[in-house]
Formats: sequence, C-alpha cells, structure tokens
Amino acid sequence: MPELPEVETVRRRLAPHVEGRAIAAVEVRDARLTGHDDPRRVEERLAGRVIPALDRRGKYLLFRLEGGDTLISHLRMTGNWLMPAAGEPAHARARVELADGTELWYADARRFGTWDLLADEEAAVYLDARLGPEPIGDGFDGAVLRDAFRGRTAPVKALLLDQRLVAGIGNIYADEALNAACIHPDTPAGRLRRAQLDVLAAEVRAALLEGIRSQGSSIRDFRSPEGGYGSMQERFRVYGRDGEPCPACGTAIVKTRCAGRGTHLCPGCQRRPRGMRRRSRALERA
Ligand code: ZN
Repeated sequence: MPELPEVETVRRRLAPHVEGRAIAAVEVRDARLTGHDDPRRVEERLAGRVIPALDRRGKYLLFRLEGGDTLISHLRMTGNWLMPAAGEPAHARARVELADGTELWYADARRFGTWDLLADEEAAVYLDARLGPEPIGDGFDGAVLRDAFRGRTAPVKALLLDQRLVAGIGNIYADEALNAACIHPDTPAGRLRRAQLDVLAAEVRAALLEGIRSQGSSIRDFRSPEGGYGSMQERFRVYGRDGEPCPACGTAIVKTRCAGRGTHLCPGCQRRPRGMRRRSRALERA
C-alpha cells in the first residue's frame, strides 16, 4: 500500500501539471470509486473547476478546487494517478482531461481506492477525524509521541500504524523506523522512555524523508505518475530483507508478526524489553 512517501511522490510529480489548470472533463468508469455519490454527479461537479493546489494529508491526496471544494483521493492498496504518454493505462478507473489537453488517469487494479468530493469545511472535518499530526511537518518530535502513547499498553508498532495518532505511516516505514531506533515493535508504547521517543520521532521522520527522496518504494504496484520506479526498496534496512544482515550489527533479520502484520526486525538491535517478560511473570503469580 502506498504510504506517505509514495503519496507525496505522486503529489510532487503531479502538482506542476495540475496546479492552476482547469478541468475540462472527467469520466468515472467505476461507480465504486465515488462510493455513495453518483459518479455522473461527481463528473458534473468537477468539470470546469480550476485546481489552485494539490495538497496531501497523511496518505490522502487533496485536489483543491476553486469555489471551495476538495476532491479527496485515497489510493488504498493499488490506486495511482498516472500521466502515461502512451494513453490509457491498465486498470483505468477514471480519466481527467485538463483544459490544456493534459490527460490524467486514475488506475486501480484492486479497486479499493476512493474519491470523496466534499466542501472544504466538510473535508477538514473528514480529515481531522481520521488523521493525527504530519510526521514530516514542523513540530513533530518525541513530545508528540509521548502525548499519543501515554498510558497505552498496545505494541508501539500498532500505534505507529494508527493514522489518528500519526498520519501516513504504514507497514514498511514503521519497520524501518523501529529498526533504526533500536526499539522492538512489541514494546508497550506507554513504556518507552523519553530518550527512546525522541529517537523514534527522529527516525520516523528520517525514514519518510528518505522515502520521498527515493521517490517512494516500488515493491508491488507503485509507480510515479510518469510510470517511473521509486528506489527506496534498495535502501530498506529490514523490510523484505529477512535472512540478510542488519546494516547496524550484522545479525540476520527475522520476519515475525506484530499488530497483525508481517514485521521485519533485527533481534540484535531490537531486544524485547526484559521488564516486559518480568512483569508478565509477576502478573501470572499475582
Ligand atoms: Zn541489528
């Protein structure tokens, strides 16, 4: 699934082509894309509108529309925005023609992606209900994580994946950041010390920024709008590298499960906290 760096890559590549341009026509070919909204009605509302800005929040792309609406596009598993020179891509679900003749396609093999066309105020409410702070934005630090994790016994990885606590992190970048911060993903979030949270916040940010610099990771379906591949998969510390040596200590990386997700970690750098085991035995005796 595209995570923050992949969605930000799409935004940066698409923005110069759409910002300040008008939409000439939209054709929604898959009614599932617009959910409860009639796709013909969405097409009508989009036609003729100028796109002053293409923004992003978490894993959502936000097409701002003159007149006070926002088209919220979530790529889910396999959605993508493409501008192929060769015309229609595989799995095309919608086509957007701009007034200057530029053709954008929304493609989605598994069809879980969504479009929500909302008034700006509704869009703000929609996003605020689903998303915590931006981890690459100003002010994201250990104190933000301390507030989010306080008193929580859930594994730290599960909370990193909770979009309401921090926006945009998925399975790949959670594993990468936890490895770089030398934190076991099963560690109860509320038990992390201040210094660990400072390091974790810095490593979350570093992993996401490196992902953006690499134009995302193309491990399954992800491509840039022009069809190019990201290269972050070549820089993974642990993700998908089970059996290979940890870049920090050389111990073989293992694949396990945490928070219901396949999880890669280094047993050398990311020790399961001892106190966790002692405490559980103490509870058993009680
Ligand atoms: Zn290691």
